[in-house]
Amino acid sequence: MTNCTRQKTTVATETFDLSSLDTTVAPGTSFYRYATGGWQDANPIPDEYARYGSFDQLREENQEQIQQLIQTLVEAGHRQGSNAQKVGTLYSIGMDSVKLNREGAEPIHSLLETITQASDKNDIIRLMAEISRYASNPFFGFRVGPDNKNSTMNIAHIYQSGIGMGDRDYYLLQDDHSKELRKQYMTLMETQFGNAGYSGEDALRAAANTLRIETALAEAHITREMRRVPELNYHKMAVADLSSAMAPFDWEYYFEEVGAKGLDSLNVSQVEPVNAAVKIIAAESIEALQDYLSWKVIDSAAAYLSDDFVDANFDFYGRAMSGSKELRPRWRRSIDAVNSAMGEAVGQLYVEKYFPPEAKERMLQLVDNLAEALGERIDQLEWMSDETKEKAHEKLGTFIVKVGYPDKWKDYTPLDIKEDSYWQNRVRAAEFAYAEMIDELGKPVDRSKWYMSPQTVNAYYSPSSNEICFPAGILQPPFFYMNGDDALNYGGIGVVIGHEMTHGFDDQGRKFDKEGNLADWWTEEDARRFDERARVLVDFFDNIAVLDTVHANGTFTLGENIADHGGLQVSYQAFQKTEQAQQAVSLNGFTPNQRFFLSYASLWAGNVRDAEILRLTRVDSHSLGRWRVDGALPHISAWYEAFDIQPEDPMYLPEEERASIW
Ligand SMILES: [Zn+2]
Repeated sequence: MTNCTRQKTTVATETFDLSSLDTTVAPGTSFYRYATGGWQDANPIPDEYARYGSFDQLREENQEQIQQLIQTLVEAGHRQGSNAQKVGTLYSIGMDSVKLNREGAEPIHSLLETITQASDKNDIIRLMAEISRYASNPFFGFRVGPDNKNSTMNIAHIYQSGIGMGDRDYYLLQDDHSKELRKQYMTLMETQFGNAGYSGEDALRAAANTLRIETALAEAHITREMRRVPELNYHKMAVADLSSAMAPFDWEYYFEEVGAKGLDSLNVSQVEPVNAAVKIIAAESIEALQDYLSWKVIDSAAAYLSDDFVDANFDFYGRAMSGSKELRPRWRRSIDAVNSAMGEAVGQLYVEKYFPPEAKERMLQLVDNLAEALGERIDQLEWMSDETKEKAHEKLGTFIVKVGYPDKWKDYTPLDIKEDSYWQNRVRAAEFAYAEMIDELGKPVDRSKWYMSPQTVNAYYSPSSNEICFPAGILQPPFFYMNGDDALNYGGIGVVIGHEMTHGFDDQGRKFDKEGNLADWWTEEDARRFDERARVLVDFFDNIAVLDTVHANGTFTLGENIADHGGLQVSYQAFQKTEQAQQAVSLNGFTPNQRFFLSYASLWAGNVRDAEILRLTRVDSHSLGRWRVDGALPHISAWYEAFDIQPEDPMYLPEEERASIW
């Protein structure tokens, strides 16, 4: 640690910002508007955003801090091969618009050329394996990760993938919005093939071939709701059986090419989609398959090429899909690229400058207090048997807690960052990450590894390692106030901690035991009662109209809604033990309990465009910001007490209709 003073940022006030409220709206009418309306009015969505909230504001500020760090590196100059040199070079090359525009499609030409030389189906297999190392997965994906039924070991997994628009619904639904997006996706592909040097006629053919193949893949894909059910995504099998079940496809050759020669078994996460992909490869012409593979390269590279590629990419993924109006500034995009290629190298610099060690101590204390409260709540549950309670306690007691940054940093020595081209650097960074992943195949899982970089404004729970992780990036206002009162912190990061802990016991996480294995440790009766209680949240959220006649998806968002619900309950209980809550002295006109809920709502303060509401409802397993407040709080009895919510208030739910899980 060199410098432990945290920079003051615009949201980093240590008292509650009263101007964020809109007190013309009653708390029981829309608590979201009441608690965050002032913020919403003061922060219209910038043109380059589809959604802009306090989360994004914090991300922007993190980026500004990182830019300053990188700028200093670039100016100082550093030893060739050091992390500082690599980070600085990669950022600078992303900023060099003259070089990028001069190069045009040149950086991807040799890759596209290799694809045109394919002459048989085995060439296609070799190319799909190669492309999946540095670009999005063609046909289906390959990865190495823990075995869900033997969580200490890393195995190979293959899974459904290969569609550019991200979700099957975009290809299959017949509503106007989906049809319009398909039309614009065709336009995007034609434009990009043209930018890559295809004639008009060839670009049209290549786009049509790609859309046909992706639509056939989408038809076979299982739904996003099914993907959340762990047992539907686990099919361990021998490679020999795969070869007879899914033919004609040279599986041995495929595994050799992905770097897993001699593999004997693996998990086929989704069987039918992979089977369909294999049949598509068998049925389609070499030319159509080449078009599809070329699209994967072009689409993955677009953001790293000249402005014609970047603009077309933004027109579709930014403007059409999300409603953004303007491309983000080049320096922000370049920071994203550096974060994605060398996350821990940037993270190491970031925490040295911006993360005070006291923050880690305060967090660990909060985590302990939250765990204690969750333990008490488990004891109090009426619906759970003593037998299952004992196991739930064991699971809670074995949580691995990660705060701030990893104990050991990733070694980037093998990664070359050079002056050749932005895209070539991206390829090398992806290959570096891929090599690291392949190296783990067949080896014990390294539980000290981090799945988010330290500068990330987010947190996670991983069921297979039963771990919760809070990177340094999220340990700032409005989540965490180093010098703030308990109400702010329990309502903010406390709920986030409780949220991540509850993921270990949501509809998905509860199916994994304390070792991280997919195993049924519940009595049948407990599972039945849990499902019954979770159903209350499914129905409640299914009923919410997010835009016109479009409704939230209660099944898809169930895990996150349970986690918000549990997070609020557990953190509120832990907060009640603090001196502040017990003395109940008001501050700025609000009781500590009121401040707890206001702090919670402030996390989700934001504005969102209509197109983005539709997109997020389709692809995001989290509820929209507004509903993380107005959908979650009606189920929290303490909130009714804090704000004196009465039966005539629009948000009021009779007690018997409120969810009660954790
Ligand atoms: Zn979550």
